[in-house]
Amino acid sequence: MQADKPLDGRHALITGGGTGIGAAAAEALHAAGTKVSLLGRRVEPLQEVAGRVEGAAIQCDVTDPASIARAFDEARAANGPIDYLIVNAGIAESAPFHKMKRDAWDRIIAVNLTGAFDTVQAGLPDLLKTEDARVVFIASVASLRGVPYAAHYAASKHGLLGLMRSMAAEYAKSQMTVNAICPGYVDTPMTDQSVTRVSQITGRGEGEARSAITNMNASGRLVDPNAIANLVLTLCLPLSRDINGAAITIDGGTAA
Ligand code: NDP
Repeated sequence: MQADKPLDGRHALITGGGTGIGAAAAEALHAAGTKVSLLGRRVEPLQEVAGRVEGAAIQCDVTDPASIARAFDEARAANGPIDYLIVNAGIAESAPFHKMKRDAWDRIIAVNLTGAFDTVQAGLPDLLKTEDARVVFIASVASLRGVPYAAHYAASKHGLLGLMRSMAAEYAKSQMTVNAICPGYVDTPMTDQSVTRVSQITGRGEGEARSAITNMNASGRLVDPNAIANLVLTLCLPLSRDINGAAITIDGGTAA
C-alpha cells in the first residue's frame, strides 16, 4: 500500500456524486487512490466531476430499482466489485406540517430512505465479499432532532439511522462497517435551494435568508463539503474498521 494512496485500487460508488458532498467525496477518495463511480439523474454534472477524478459517470434514479440495478452493473463493468458505498443522494423540501402534502412526503421518503435501502441492497453482495468494506450514509442533524417545517425530511433522515444501526449490528462480525455522517448546514447546492425557498416564503432578501440559515449552525458558518468528504475518507481507511454503527455529527457545534 502506498502511503499517499492508502485506498489504492479500491472502488467507491457514490450516489449523488455529481454535486455538493458527493462530488467532494469523489475528489477525496480519488486522491487516496480509489476508483470512483458517480451516480445521479443529471448526466452533465456527473461527467464534469468524472473528468476531474477519472471516474465513471452513470445515470441513475435511486427511486427506481431497475435503474439502480443497471447502474450498479455499469459501475462493476467500469471499476470492478464495490468496496465502499457512499449513500449520499438526497432531496429536501419544506412546508408547515398542516400544509404538507402526501405527495411531498412520498417524494422525500422515496429518495432519502427507500432509495438508500435499495442502494445498499444492490451493493451488499459485493460488500460482503471484500475486505474492509464500508457503507457510509450521508444523514443529517435532522436525523437526531425534530426540524420545524421539514417533518418529512427529518423523518426520512431519522429512518436512515435506524437502517444504519440495524445493519451495523447485523453485520458486526463481517468485514463491513456501516456508519452515518450527520452534517449541519453545508455549503452545497441543497443549501442554496434552501436559501431561495426561505427568501421566497418569507419575502426576505437572499443575503438575509442565507445569513439566517448559516446561523442555524452554532459556528455561524456553513460546513465545508470537503470536511464531510474528509470524514468519508477516514471511515474508509482500514484502521477505521472498529468504527461501526456510529452517527458522527459535523455541524459546527450545534449538537454539543
Ligand atoms: P446536492 O443537492 O448538491 O446533492 C444531492 C445529490 O443527490 C445531487 O447530486 C442529486 O443529483 C442527487 N439525487 C437527488 N435525487 C436523486 C435521485 N432520485 N436519484 C439519484 N440521485 C439523486 O446537496 P448536498 O451535497 O448537500 O446533499 C447530499 C446529501 O447530504 C443529501 O442526502 C442531503 O440530505 C445531505 N445533507 C445536506 C446538508 C446540507 O446542508 N447541504 C445537511 C445535511 C445533510 P441529481 O439531481 O442529478 O439526481
